[in-house]
Amino acid sequence: MRDKFVTRFAPSPTGHLHLGHAFSALQAWHAAREADGRFLLRIEDIDKGRCRPEFEAAIMEDLAWLGIAWEEPVRRQSDHFADYETALDTLRAQGLLYPCFCTRREIADEIAHSPSAPHDLPGPKGPDGPIYPGICRDMSAHQIQIKEGVGAAYALRLDLEKATALLKQQGDWPLRWQEGGGAPVKADPRSLGDVVLARKDTPTSYHLAVTVDDALQGVTHVIRGEDLFHATHIHRVLQALLGYPAPRYIHHPLIRDARGRRFAKRDKAETLRSLRQGGESPEAIINRLGNLTGG
Ligand code: GLU
Repeated sequence: MRDKFVTRFAPSPTGHLHLGHAFSALQAWHAAREADGRFLLRIEDIDKGRCRPEFEAAIMEDLAWLGIAWEEPVRRQSDHFADYETALDTLRAQGLLYPCFCTRREIADEIAHSPSAPHDLPGPKGPDGPIYPGICRDMSAHQIQIKEGVGAAYALRLDLEKATALLKQQGDWPLRWQEGGGAPVKADPRSLGDVVLARKDTPTSYHLAVTVDDALQGVTHVIRGEDLFHATHIHRVLQALLGYPAPRYIHHPLIRDARGRRFAKRDKAETLRSLRQGGESPEAIINRLGNLTGG
């Protein structure tokens, strides 16, 4: 029997939902309804500095106003740091994590001075910013001890080369994922490099939390914007290392405003809240989203 279809909408409560979020939430919600599946709402609030409870309440109110219903209880990432810690322990036991004490400045300087860096570019750029040049990858236990001894802040990074070697050795390489109804996509995480999986003060990162949660919540279909397509390369690697199944993915196009720009939280006029306060109905918004995509 096929697994029941499970999908989710996973906003971060750092502001009010805008039309781009509404479009994404509706895509996932419609897909779940069509498949007679489950629709989950997940609050991605690991960044305690930027996330606010009042935005979480506003997200729920706006989604309900749009006519979207989700299962309770809602998973809130900040309630589940222990799950991310367990995943980190698994990766640590495989020897795939290392502490990195670099500041942004040190990383930028290293890239700028690397002999292979092209002169006209700031350094090898990945979709998430500069690819970490590996400064701390081979620190000795003694060097690490000294840094830790003085209370230096650090991030835990995935050693991608070691991770790939391990997956090859296990016969799990290359990795692929099913994208929509098309051909499987081969995972190539090199454009993200040794990603940060946790920080001293936030014991997880977006990449780790989203991978753990999708697996623990039994998500079978990840439906999200194409701006996160690149992240799936590393999510597949984490799934394989942590022994999770691979969900299917649908990265939908991002809708744009009349000037062709992506909607952003800073555009107050296009939040669901202000549209609602301006007298727009949910039906009008759903129609408008259909027209924006030509649908
Ligand atoms: N929390 C992410 C965001 O708001 C979405 C994560 C995901 O769908 O994988 O952009």
